[in-house]
Amino acid sequence: MNLCPASPRLKCANCDYEEPFERPPTECPKCGGGWLDVVYDYESVSRIWPEALRGRPFNMWRYRELLHLNDDANLISMGEGGTPLLRAVNLGLMLGCPHIYVKDERQGPTGSFKDRQASLSISFMKELGITEAVVASTGNVAISYSAYSALAGIKLWAFLTSLVPSEKMREVALYGSEVIKVTSTYDQTKQVAAEFAARKGIFRDRGIRSISARESMKTVAFEIAEQLPQFVGPGNNTPWRTPDWYIQSVSGGMGPVGVWKGYQELLQMGLVDRMPKLACIQAAGCAPMVNSFEKGMLDSVEPVLNPQTLVITVATGNPGPAYPFLAHVVKEHGGAFEAVTDEETFHAMHVMAKLDGLSMETAAAMAFAGLFKLLNKGVIKRDEVIVVNCSGHTFPVEKHLLGDEWARTIELPMEEPHLAPPAEEGLLGSLEQIDARVHSIAILEDNPQSALLLRRILQTRGDYQILEARDGAEGLAMVQRERPDLVLLDLMMPGMDGFEVLEALKADPELSKVPVVVITAKDLTSAERKRLGDQIEALMEKGAFTDEDLLDEILKRTV
Ligand SMILES: *Cc1c(COP(=O)(O)O)cnc(C)c1O
Ligand SMILES: [Zn+2]
Repeated sequence: MNLCPASPRLKCANCDYEEPFERPPTECPKCGGGWLDVVYDYESVSRIWPEALRGRPFNMWRYRELLHLNDDANLISMGEGGTPLLRAVNLGLMLGCPHIYVKDERQGPTGSFKDRQASLSISFMKELGITEAVVASTGNVAISYSAYSALAGIKLWAFLTSLVPSEKMREVALYGSEVIKVTSTYDQTKQVAAEFAARKGIFRDRGIRSISARESMKTVAFEIAEQLPQFVGPGNNTPWRTPDWYIQSVSGGMGPVGVWKGYQELLQMGLVDRMPKLACIQAAGCAPMVNSFEKGMLDSVEPVLNPQTLVITVATGNPGPAYPFLAHVVKEHGGAFEAVTDEETFHAMHVMAKLDGLSMETAAAMAFAGLFKLLNKGVIKRDEVIVVNCSGHTFPVEKHLLGDEWARTIELPMEEPHLAPPAEEGLLGSLEQIDARVHSIAILEDNPQSALLLRRILQTRGDYQILEARDGAEGLAMVQRERPDLVLLDLMMPGMDGFEVLEALKADPELSKVPVVVITAKDLTSAERKRLGDQIEALMEKGAFTDEDLLDEILKRTV
């Protein structure tokens, strides 16, 4: 690895000021602007990328040339970055979107994408000789910085709003940081932290203004670009690929700002052929960016003084300079700012866990809720290539989602133990009661992936016995034999198709009363609709119903 990356220089975003990158000033010495970017010698890097990357470990430091640390001796790394890009198969099938990909940032060392930021920021602090620092956080920055500070030998003062779940706070304390709870909003917590740092003369992390934060987040873009071709092929005459959409829940907005810069660098080096559209998702009760954009404001943001959301991780009322930057990008290039309610976020959280096995914290689920909304509005097209940042892992905030009834209790007889049956038998008896599958549902579907999705949706409601058949004739025989309470019927099947199965069922006096819900990928002709007539209970189009729609239909017919 290079000791000295591609001659980084510091450049003002507002005027033409430039200097070699060493110790960044807090503002532009020429115009006083607060936004300085690092630029590199892209020509020399483009001569060695992507070949030079081939033997390197898959973590964010494989992009060493474009990360501004001067000396590898200061590098603090726990293998952050290099997270998998997963295809959301079941979700995609349900929504009718073949190209939803999940950048699984839960898999960072402390469980969120802040680990990228921590690795670069703390390494750079070490390079500057800093041994004590102040940070304000809604949780994840404090956790991540604390872990990396432990390795760097930095004493960290973590200022947290008291709204942060106590489990997260305890983790910060566990790493040995000083935890300061501020009983107020995050914005006020930031002010208190700034005052404390100024008074004590301690280095303070500068959030979005922090160069390391933005520079680290661009590695998300590098990785997506490198990973996407395995699913959808490379770009036009480029080795790497840009998605149509990058979706993320935002508070300060440094993720999308960094991702945008990452793609600009890749574009400049000829590694991708275009820029993505950014979708920035916020909570309806704390959506300063969304509100300001809707009002047509581009150059400044109207802060939300009193955030109303349970999603504390992204409850930033005043996002600062990221907003004008992102607003201009979205206006010029396309993209979206969208708000979702907490309820929509909790629903998305549940859907992602149930369908694709991804349990995430609410802040991450919010991005998926935004995806659902933008698809419904037609802003995102169903055939576009979509990457959602799954930005952080589950934390006990899901208390709000699950209520008290997330476990089932087994009660063993206690009063007269000598009369009770042997423990194991009693235990099994209670389990049987719990697992009373009162209704049976037959799935007649030839496509195994579609059958899996239907099965999965039913499995998340414990009390269905599920029967499956892969073609019409086998399915009809199964229904005649098992007499299910309801049939889910695909129309397009080899051999005997769904229409024929339906006619056979209706002609059989024993089975004609079994409700049938048709699930189809086919646009029906009017003749076909007529043929179904009033013989079915409901017609559901693949890609156009949610798990709840389907369960609603089934519940109506089986209680
Ligand atoms: C910080 C954070 C966000 C928001 O990130 P920004 O790009 O800085 O707005 C989203 N999700 C999680 C889990 C986070 O920790
Ligand atoms: Zn300037």
